[in-house]
Amino acid sequence: MRSDLSKVLFTREQIQQRVREMGNEIAIVYADLEPGLTIVPILSGSIIFLADLIRELPMRMKIALIQLSTYPGATTTAQEPRVVTELSADVRGRHVLIVDDILDTGRTLRSVQSMIRDRGAATVRTAVLLSKPGKAPPEVTVDFVGFEIDDLFVVGYGLDFDDHYRNLPHIGVLRPELTR
Ligand code: 5GP
Ligand code: MG
Repeated sequence: MRSDLSKVLFTREQIQQRVREMGNEIAIVYADLEPGLTIVPILSGSIIFLADLIRELPMRMKIALIQLSTYPGATTTAQEPRVVTELSADVRGRHVLIVDDILDTGRTLRSVQSMIRDRGAATVRTAVLLSKPGKAPPEVTVDFVGFEIDDLFVVGYGLDFDDHYRNLPHIGVLRPELTR
């Protein structure tokens, strides 16, 4: 699988280090918030980031899953996000931290952020591992960002192409001929 990448952007060690720092940043913000924190990971891209990030967070938390689809099948062109699996728990009155793999056009986060607000969350914040700056509209904001990257299609550490490559421990750019 490594040979399918034209370039590695972040190694396993670099990711681990940055996720640990993000955990510290997030833990400060949620240090003594009542009534409690609910993490809302956006499936499936966030699964590896989620697993590493929450183990850096010392506070009590619940997890409520939601699944959206933006890249159906073998495509690198985003479509309008579609809810595939509804939010798995009530977030009314809770402090919510949405966790996603990457902020690209912002359509996914716009729809999830507004859904969580509509359901009566006390506060809504967002953490993403990666961000492609300047692509999302100004109303879509994120509170915690791991790394800013150029506008390239990346895979690994949860990010897929046609549901492959999620298990790569590093993040890299797929060789262009493989996405055609
Ligand atoms: P947005 O709605 O911000 O355009 O895109 C967000 C979703 O699209 C992410 O949750 C992610 O699943 C997918 N996505 C965006 N950019 C990339 C990319 O470079 N690589 C992969 N594998 N998925 C991406
Ligand atoms: Mg995703």
